[in-house]
Amino acid sequence: NSMTAIANNHVVSFHYTLANAVGEVLDKSQGEPLVYLQGAGNIIPGLENALLGKTVGDKFTVTVPAAEGYGEYNPELVQEVPAKMFQGVDNIQAGMQFQAQTDDGVQIVTVKAVEGENVIVDANFPLAGQDLTFDVEIVDIRDASQEELDHGHVHGAGGHHH
Ligand code: ZN
Repeated sequence: NSMTAIANNHVVSFHYTLANAVGEVLDKSQGEPLVYLQGAGNIIPGLENALLGKTVGDKFTVTVPAAEGYGEYNPELVQEVPAKMFQGVDNIQAGMQFQAQTDDGVQIVTVKAVEGENVIVDANFPLAGQDLTFDVEIVDIRDASQEELDHGHVHGAGGHHH
């Protein structure tokens, strides 16, 4: 019901617009709201904390510091690798993104520069090190099913299908 305040184990639907520190819009919900399970770490901690206690119809703006978002930028994740590692890619250019298998699982790496036979890649998450501002509108709150709680994510519309 409309008076429910967001707490752990609620399934929450919200619209958002995400902007960086200079007001550039990076992402927004398109048509359908984003749906997540509160308390399960489905979304970044700073945003999850800001949503706690809100009710349907609430609109607010929150700026999440990098440390509570996608983490600080780690210069050690910038590495030089041989271009021949990019087999099957004809024309490697700055800005290209690739999936790389690492000890920590699959990571997105972004090409920073190509220098002769070598490529400078950055394995930081693209939004790492950025303070992020979210404009949020809460559109729905419901109790999670036991199955959703067991899985730690939302099922059905906007969630997982399996
Ligand atoms: Zn599931």
